[in-house]
Formats: sequence, C-alpha cells, structure tokens
Amino acid sequence: MSKIAVLSGKGGSGKTFISTNLSNIINGSTYLDCDVEEPNGHIFYSNCKLLEDKKVYRLVPNFDSEKCNGCRDCVNFCKFSALAFIGNKPLLFDEVCHSCGGCNLVCSQNAISDKEIEVGTVSIYSKNDNTIISGQMKIGEASAVSLISEVLKNASEQSIIDCPPGSACSTMEAIKGADYCILVTEPTIFSLHNIMMIVELVELFNIPYGFVINKSDDSIDYIIEDYIKSINQELLIKIPFSTELAKSNASGKLININSKEIDNFNQLKVKLIEKGIIK
Ligand code: SF4
Ligand code: SF4
Repeated sequence: MSKIAVLSGKGGSGKTFISTNLSNIINGSTYLDCDVEEPNGHIFYSNCKLLEDKKVYRLVPNFDSEKCNGCRDCVNFCKFSALAFIGNKPLLFDEVCHSCGGCNLVCSQNAISDKEIEVGTVSIYSKNDNTIISGQMKIGEASAVSLISEVLKNASEQSIIDCPPGSACSTMEAIKGADYCILVTEPTIFSLHNIMMIVELVELFNIPYGFVINKSDDSIDYIIEDYIKSINQELLIKIPFSTELAKSNASGKLININSKEIDNFNQLKVKLIEKGIIK
C-alpha cells in the first residue's frame, strides 16, 4: 500500500488543487480529504456518487456520582487539564479531553465509564474507478485527530492524502504512516517561512519528500528553488501561474485530462512511478 501525503505551510497554497488533480489521473486511487475543518476536495469530483455517510465518535469519561468518593486521583492524573474538581466531584471539559482513558484506569472506585461523543462524519464517494473519502468535523469539536484517524482507515493500494494546512497535531496525524510527502508552496518569502516548518516536520517523521511550486513565476521562483538546493532536496514540478487554472480551481473543477494543463501532473505522476511510490 502506498500513501502520498500532500502538505502546505498555509491554506490557499494549492494543496487540494494538487491532491485532487493527481488523484484523478491515477486509476483506482483513493483521495482522502483530511483537511476536516474545511473539506472541499469532493466538490472537484463533479457527479461523484455518495455511497455512505458514517458518524464518528470518540470516548470520554462519564462519572457515577454515587460511586465517586471525591479522592481526586482522576483530576491529578489528567495531564490535559480536561478535569476540574468542583463541589467535591470531578467535572469534565470534553473539548480538551484526549480520550486517553487514563482517568478510568486510576479510579479505584470504578466510578468512571466511557461515553461516546460525536466528532464528525466520514463520507465515502465513488467516481469511475476512484474513491473519494471526506472527513467533516462537527461544529464545536476542538480536536481533529480522531476523525482524521478514521478517514485514514479507508486508505487503499494507492492513496493521496490531502492534509490539513500547517504543522499542528492534526497534520502529524495525517502524515503518520505516509510513504512520501509532496510539499506544495508558492514562490514568496511568506510561503518559504511556512514550508520550512513543514520540512522540519517531515524530517522528524523521517518521510522522504519533494516540492511542488504552485503559481510559479520565473522572476521569483528562486526564493524557493535556492532553499530546495540548499537542503539537497528535489523540486518535482512547477505549475506556472495561470488565470484560467485559477478560475477553474475557484469554480471547483478538475483539470481536463485531455488539456495541455494536465502535462505537469502527468510529469509528477511519472516521477512518483520512477521512485516506486505508485504504479
Ligand atoms: S478517581 Fe474516581 S473516585 Fe476519585 S474523584 Fe475521580 S471519579 Fe471520583
Ligand atoms: S480520558 Fe484522558 S484526557 Fe480525558 S479526562 Fe481522562 S485522563 Fe483526561
């Protein structure tokens, strides 16, 4: 099974643009939208068929006030400050609970059980030979990690993971187990700063990676190219800035696979085949 994670240092760099169009030219691939706070990848697959909507839950502690003797062991144990002690009883702040189950383990009175709370939905779509998986976080839910983990369970032989932007714990969850990372950036100083943080992250996870410069402009590409050379890494492709591409992307359309604009993506696909990452 090969998993390719597509990352960017900030929103709007073209991560979804790259993920969806690459996935679209790999027959039988699965596109996994892990940008669960604002998933929009499925919009690009016009007329895709919704197969299933699955609610996703996580477990948080539920306290039995009859059994609780007010020892505070659970509150002292919780390192995420998800428990307070009020009126001689523990009080849960479920939005910061990491569902580790530790408080349950340390309770000597058997006063804690598990209860489920909804974190979001995983939607499964199909289009031709491809599968599209989209995670949608529930409004008000603070952590995307458990939902992303559910989305990733649907990975197939060849999967493209559209990661959350930035380098927070939700991005770490999305790249866990990836075989290769594509780092998407624009040729600006601001983007350089952001992509350097992503490089630190993928190196920490020891995942091989390469770069795509989106909205490339020959007069300023050196900002990113010089950096890539300085760290001895590979520039996979450059996608020149194009008003037509921007318009079609803003309208939620994939690039026509018979058009000239798809050439860059075919070139990217060939590079991934040469590396043995996809077939
Ligand atoms: S560890 Fe158990 S008994 Fe002690 S305060 Fe927490 S719930 Fe109550
Ligand atoms: S499950 Fe873990 S994070 Fe949640 S309240 Fe218990 S100890 Fe804290």
